[in-house]
Amino acid sequence: MTDMISKKAMAEIEEGRGISRMFSDAVALTEKFGAENVYNFSIGNPSEEPPEEVKRAIIDELQTQKPMALHSYTGSYGYADVRKAVADHENRLFQTAFTADNVVMTVGAAGGLNLMFQVLMNPGDQVITFAPYFSEYKCYAMNVDAELVLCGTDENFQPRLAEFESKINEKTRIVLINSPNNPTGAVYSRDILKKIADIMERKEREYGLPIYLVSDEPYRYIAYDGVEVPYLPNIYKNAVVANSFSKSLSLPGERIGFLILPSSLDGYREIYGACNTMNRTLGFVNAPSLIQKAVGRCLDAEVDVKGYEKNRNALYEGLTRIGYQCMKPQGAFYLFVKTPIADDWEFYERAQKYRLILGPGSAFGGPGYVRISYCVEYDMIVKALPGFQKLWEEIRTEQGK
Ligand code: PLP
Repeated sequence: MTDMISKKAMAEIEEGRGISRMFSDAVALTEKFGAENVYNFSIGNPSEEPPEEVKRAIIDELQTQKPMALHSYTGSYGYADVRKAVADHENRLFQTAFTADNVVMTVGAAGGLNLMFQVLMNPGDQVITFAPYFSEYKCYAMNVDAELVLCGTDENFQPRLAEFESKINEKTRIVLINSPNNPTGAVYSRDILKKIADIMERKEREYGLPIYLVSDEPYRYIAYDGVEVPYLPNIYKNAVVANSFSKSLSLPGERIGFLILPSSLDGYREIYGACNTMNRTLGFVNAPSLIQKAVGRCLDAEVDVKGYEKNRNALYEGLTRIGYQCMKPQGAFYLFVKTPIADDWEFYERAQKYRLILGPGSAFGGPGYVRISYCVEYDMIVKALPGFQKLWEEIRTEQGK
């Protein structure tokens, strides 16, 4: 029956097999032991409630808008008043001078990234990203027959600059950056980002073509210990921002985000114009209208980052006390832990004995690690730690340590 499915769909299904396996294993364990006895750390669904303000804004929009005004098509870019509110908000935070015409409301960050890939890339073009990385990027590149090129990071998951420079060539159209990062929790420093920008500017001059830096920022507002999350358009002229309310306002199912396309972009007019057409032809048409209006009123609202921070601290301290090696995440809600055996899929399998569902690093371009999503109830972390301990001891005994 696989002949019925397109080659591209088959390739993407193949690519996503690791992720699908985590889902099916979680379902099987839950059926067997009950949800309260399974410690599922494999998904990135926010555990914090959306702020009250967002719920009130949704209800208020429903009660006060003219009939049907909220449920119509909005135009591909989104509501002008919401785009203006988003532009003003960015301007306040980052001392920029955007207008509504620098904003496209999108179907989450994923919708924005796919839109950018469609607008900027031809088949055979390349997009560079830093591994470990959000595994869907590979599929977004496949959607446009482009190639995802991976560049390594150091022990703190900061980009390796010499390798990065060597990987840029005349086919490189996009450099895709995700900081705070999924799956590592790393935040790229201003110094590193400036160096990345310098390299890209040099390469643009060498090849006589723009290279766009796309900053995938769903976790911008989930950062800890006062770490700076630099704003890329203030560092590099050809930078585009893809942001989302999935994590910052805990609205992943509402599918709402936005793109910032600064007027300084090479070809800004053509690119912005193309977004209008491509948003329609991709089938998104427009970002969901009711939730556009609601988030436009809640741009200063925040989820309780302190809850994630408490989870991060408990997990980091618990795991390192046992002996696991990991970097303390600076942002997002993921912890990337070195596996005490080389094969992370084997570690993933063995963890299930203790009813732990983890994310094998290989599925994120980071073999030898597992991703632990700590957007979960705090109690789950407390209850899961003894399982992590037993697994550690079991493996160390085998290794004769
Ligand atoms: N980019 C990264 C790094 C993510 O982790 C996610 C979701 O988990 C997305 C993009 C997609 O986010 P959205 O729900 O806004 O489409």
